[in-house]
Amino acid sequence: MIVKLARYGGFCFGVKRAFNIVLRAAKENGRVFTFGPLIHNPQAVSLLEKKAVTVLSSVDEVSCGDVVVIRSHGVSPDVIEELKSRGALIEDATCPRVKRVQRVVEKSAKDGYLVVIVGDKGHAEVKGLLGYARGRGVVVSSVEDVSSLPTDAPLVVVGQTTLTQDFYQKIVDAIRECNRNARVYETLCLSTQERQNEVRALVKEVDAVVVVGGYNSANTRRLYEIAVSSGKPTFHIETADELSEQDFEGVEVVGLAAGASTPRWIIEGVKERLEGIGQAHISLLQLPVFKEIGFFLQEANIFSALAASGLALFSASILGVKDIFLFPLIAFLFVLGMHILVDIHDWRGFEIMDPDKMEFYDRNSFLLYPLFILSFALMVPILLQVGVLQFILTSFVVLLGVVYILWGQKRFPFVGKDIALALGWGFVIAVLPIFKARVPVTIAVFVLLFSFIVSFVRSLAFSLVESEADSVLGRKSIPSLFGKKIARGILLVSEIVLLAILIFYALFIKNALFVAQLIPALVLFWAIRRVKKARYSELLVNLSLFGFGLVQLIINL
Ligand code: SF4
Repeated sequence: MIVKLARYGGFCFGVKRAFNIVLRAAKENGRVFTFGPLIHNPQAVSLLEKKAVTVLSSVDEVSCGDVVVIRSHGVSPDVIEELKSRGALIEDATCPRVKRVQRVVEKSAKDGYLVVIVGDKGHAEVKGLLGYARGRGVVVSSVEDVSSLPTDAPLVVVGQTTLTQDFYQKIVDAIRECNRNARVYETLCLSTQERQNEVRALVKEVDAVVVVGGYNSANTRRLYEIAVSSGKPTFHIETADELSEQDFEGVEVVGLAAGASTPRWIIEGVKERLEGIGQAHISLLQLPVFKEIGFFLQEANIFSALAASGLALFSASILGVKDIFLFPLIAFLFVLGMHILVDIHDWRGFEIMDPDKMEFYDRNSFLLYPLFILSFALMVPILLQVGVLQFILTSFVVLLGVVYILWGQKRFPFVGKDIALALGWGFVIAVLPIFKARVPVTIAVFVLLFSFIVSFVRSLAFSLVESEADSVLGRKSIPSLFGKKIARGILLVSEIVLLAILIFYALFIKNALFVAQLIPALVLFWAIRRVKKARYSELLVNLSLFGFGLVQLIINL
């Protein structure tokens, strides 16, 4: 089946922020509690439990000194006061958009208004808002409820952030009919509205819709209701295991939308399962044995190391160095060692965002540690063969890289992982062979520019795919620091510059064959855009980078 994935699926800003706060608090304190489940997604909550994040269902369960995180829905001020009186340390992860509504409710109640909260009576956010009204609030869940409101008292109306605009407007119209002085606040969350609008548009392009997210998630339920109202077959599921092939008989295109608290890895799992439905045959590469081998090569960073070796081959060849194959070997080992270290050091994050990857590290750590040590050990004799200066320089860069990975990743405010990776790759691909170059300075400058920019394009593209995990885990990268929009702009500009450099160089050396280098460049740009799923996009991008070395080798023949 063809799957049309809604663009706004996955964690919203408020949920990412809450995850960030809870993970940081768990790391700092060893153990934390959330007052109610952090988000309305049982799978994510059970993963958090493994990270010493325990869900409290009542204030009575709190002991003095416990760190309690207030979830994104917020709680009533009475609850906070009660928690404090029991000696709990509060970390407030209430979404700023919910907080804004709490302030409106609090101030309006103080000013003497009766606050009408439109929303689900039992929902945590609504209960919290009601608490801020301090006895001057009333919940309205349907048009029928409006008839019980006073017709002459001053009213303020607010809505639960995840309501649909239509529903809120319907209630507001009914209130205004019986109370002309009601002051209405626009409190619906923009990111919820975007998701709802997207589902409205999506249903027109598909034969059926799957909405993935917790059954107790209000915003997921609304997406489901919108899809159901279109008349198209609609399925609300929490995980891929709930999908049944029979439900999709005759369906060619299925729309996939997700609630604001659905982790990206669950969405990807559902997408993969849906794509497999209706496939008459499976290709060789989909056989479990090939999938397993491919997964190992990918997760053990062999493909990344191959990409670096291809680029080093490209540089060494253009720079006209002797012993051309020593540099790809060094690049391979350097990137292999560094990337394994990054993953070994930070694999706790995969537990939240990519359990398959976490399981891989759990299963294969006995292989990865020796591989990491071996890669650096093998580099020593090769580097000494190239030169003592190269050996000293590389040792220094390795040391710098290790310090950055182990201590600096979350501390250096402006050195995102994409920039750090590009610098490391650029060094090993271009700087090392430049010392042995036998070409004019202009060509050396071309190699330097090309190597740094192509490495940067690669790491920025992956940062974009991993931006959700990076934000949640507090890792610095251009998308997590400046937002995806700016990051995409920087990526596009870098690609244009890269293309311009290649074309300029082709004209400069007047070698028509060099135009062939545009092939891996275009494959690279295509791969970056074509596949959203990190695992496959990484493979395609890495293979296209390896292609630069391969094409250069063919040109030189
Ligand atoms: S859906 Fe909106 S209001 Fe709710 S947590 Fe996410 S960003 Fe905040």
